[in-house]
Amino acid sequence: MKKIIVTIDGWSSCGKSTLAKQMAKELGYVYVDSGAMYRAITLYFLRNHINWQKESEVEKALQNITLEFRYAENSGQSEIYLNEENVEYVIRDLVIAEKVSEVAAIKQVRKFAVAQQQKMGLNKGIVMDGRDIGTIVFPNAELKIFMTADIAIRVERRYMEMFKKNPNINIDDVKANLEMRDYLDSNREVSPLRKAKDAVIIDNTNLTIEEQLKLALSYAREKQR
Ligand code: C5P
Repeated sequence: MKKIIVTIDGWSSCGKSTLAKQMAKELGYVYVDSGAMYRAITLYFLRNHINWQKESEVEKALQNITLEFRYAENSGQSEIYLNEENVEYVIRDLVIAEKVSEVAAIKQVRKFAVAQQQKMGLNKGIVMDGRDIGTIVFPNAELKIFMTADIAIRVERRYMEMFKKNPNINIDDVKANLEMRDYLDSNREVSPLRKAKDAVIIDNTNLTIEEQLKLALSYAREKQR
């Protein structure tokens, strides 16, 4: 069977990473969470008070950032490291979610992240999720999936996930954040969120996690032949 590249793009909190992780496991492929890279860069900018409106400051800051994914035995997943520090969990905070789409819209930031993402795909056998993976990062990927789900379902899912870590979380704040990110991600000038022309759509509003995996795997097996 030939090794392929699978890209999964779509709106915030559609379950892209859940599907991507399961697919990678089933196919024996590497999973890469491209959003974690933008979140880690945002964390660095916030911690170091980088004025990201200034091109020169952004350029300089990026030179001091090293991102790396390392496999974690206990979770069985790869986790992101920012300059040797494991930031996999702190980047999931709402404080980061509130700024990440602004940072991800910066041209140099995208150039920095996309170059690294493309290197990770050189040997294929990879599942990467994000917003521009099928359009910009791997325009020649063999299988492109575009995910969507009703906003109410997405809010509920993200709220439940965040509530486990922070019971004081407010559902209206979660909803406002999702809507804001979707707006910024799909309206930015550089690499806006778009469905690639050759992507298949998976709307998982009424699908279970098992059903969506089965469907996506059937597409992947077809392309592997
Ligand atoms: O996937 P996740 O929700 O963690 O991504 C966080 C943010 O990173 C997105 O809202 C988007 O602004 C940005 N992002 C992006 N391009 C990607 C992946 C994520 O612009 N390929």
